Amino acid sequence: MTDIKTKLNIFGQNLDEITDLIVSLGHSKFRAKQIFNWIYLKSAKSFLEMSDLPKNLQEELEENYRIGSLALIERQESSDGTKKYLFALEDGSLVESVLMCFEGTERLTACISSQIGCAVKCPFCSTGTLGFKKNLRDDEILEQVQFIQNLEQERISNIVFMGQGEPLNNYDSVVSATQKLRQLIGIGARHITISTSGVIPQIEKLADEKIQLTLALSLHDPDDDDRDLLVPINKKWKIAPLIDSMKRYVNSTNRRVTIEYVLLKDLNDSDEKAKRLGQLVSNLHCNINLIPYNQSCSDTIFLRPDDSRINKFAELVKQHSKGKTVTVRQEKGHDIKAACGQLESSYREAVQSSS
Ligand code: SF4
Repeated sequence: MTDIKTKLNIFGQNLDEITDLIVSLGHSKFRAKQIFNWIYLKSAKSFLEMSDLPKNLQEELEENYRIGSLALIERQESSDGTKKYLFALEDGSLVESVLMCFEGTERLTACISSQIGCAVKCPFCSTGTLGFKKNLRDDEILEQVQFIQNLEQERISNIVFMGQGEPLNNYDSVVSATQKLRQLIGIGARHITISTSGVIPQIEKLADEKIQLTLALSLHDPDDDDRDLLVPINKKWKIAPLIDSMKRYVNSTNRRVTIEYVLLKDLNDSDEKAKRLGQLVSNLHCNINLIPYNQSCSDTIFLRPDDSRINKFAELVKQHSKGKTVTVRQEKGHDIKAACGQLESSYREAVQSSS
């Protein structure tokens, strides 16, 4: 019997690719559509489930191919309903995804990962402290979504690339995954948000693709000197050209972008910063999303501002940005470390225990 790891994974293949495979094996073309439907509409995990295929084809495929490569290691559920999943890839590396629902809406949003670790190394982010390990393939990105939908028996409506990794540092796989999310799983570009720390050449490349994705920029500070420390990629790509590249994205796609700003007590939450942030984005077609830092008990450097400071900051940003929409993000999944910037704990613990 063929070892599971040497079987070729066909999850993530589109109809043309499956057709090529089936024809190359000497079977009729129409079998490909049946297999495609079993994988993406009926979520089959084994070819032996595909009851409308001839037995010999089921067995031939089962012997040499497989559907998917992720294994669920752990599922945690927060008191607010947020769920966190730890998946193992084929090589044993671990990656996390989160499922969130928001009060008063029907939206079910999956926060997915694009890399293991991250090279940007933002000091307040748990993933960043790992450094970069590897890029995920497009099928591994896609499978996070399919896996969660099957497990929960619920339809995911929105995707945010805000899990582990800088998505634009894994450009080809991420763009391919967004296309396959539409083609294979039925989640359109307008329901997908890519969050970047500011990789200017890739923002411009994405602008040229004219895909209707929502682009979110993790700005976190309006001043270069301070942003150099909070988002170290800023040493290479400064704020002024970064905002220009976001304007280019807006012009090219006609999509409003989002500016994300994690609020850190006494570091970037002053009245002055709020005014400068507002002015900086006043001519950009954007919403501003403030994210009060998810402080854990062991944090001593990065702290969450109190509510009155957060509200004052939001008010000033609105005033100085010519009335842009400013929202304060609802904190989700804090008790299971599923909140923003907290994804890595299980990974780190697993790595430490295996080393
Ligand atoms: S905040 Fe995003 S870009 Fe920064 S280290 Fe974490 S995952 Fe990477």
